[in-house]
Amino acid sequence: MESNFKQIVREAFFYLFPSFCIVCNMPVETCYSFRLCKRCRQELLYVRDWEVAEFEKKLPNVDAFLSVFLYAGTFKKLLWLYKEKGMRQVANLFYEHVLNLILSSGFLYPVVSVPSRPARIKKRGFCHTGLLADRLNGYFRYKPGISLVFSDKATNIVSQKELSAEERRKAVEGRFAASAEAVYCEESVILLDDVCTTGSTLNECASVLKTSGVRRVVALTLAIEL
Ligand SMILES: [Zn+2]
Repeated sequence: MESNFKQIVREAFFYLFPSFCIVCNMPVETCYSFRLCKRCRQELLYVRDWEVAEFEKKLPNVDAFLSVFLYAGTFKKLLWLYKEKGMRQVANLFYEHVLNLILSSGFLYPVVSVPSRPARIKKRGFCHTGLLADRLNGYFRYKPGISLVFSDKATNIVSQKELSAEERRKAVEGRFAASAEAVYCEESVILLDDVCTTGSTLNECASVLKTSGVRRVVALTLAIEL
């Protein structure tokens, strides 16, 4: 009886306040904290431990590697909405997953994000990795003593999508630098980026951090692209 009543109230609620999936725009029937329908949730693919271990081999400059999703299906669409459409609410879902991963990994270090190109930040209105890093640092009440910036010396900035692994490695050389406003050097940091494909960006950023004195760099990406 009670469950019937609850069912009626629930249906009336969704009738009065319909909610739609932010990815496919279909009605969302259940009370999730984030508007994603059941089908899109099922297409959110998580990485398996052995896939992360395989990727770690591409990252000689980092001490450990963590990742959440596979760059496919719903994740790909969510990242597009976040990066290209500036839909900040997507950060809530990413934040939840990354925070849980950090807490379960035990690597409770300040988070340093891989910076986006200044022109992209200007267009989008925010740095998509920086926004997440700020929220994570806020949770732990960290104020990282070091951060990364796009280097003034970085000229010839080309999209990495069409490049081979070796071309990517060369393309990111000298692209990042430790911020001139760095207050002090952290002993250990989490280096946060959106997607890891060849690992060239993470290796380069880890190298810059280590040259600046950071001893331990744990790379964490939202996704890996197989
Ligand atoms: Zn959907």
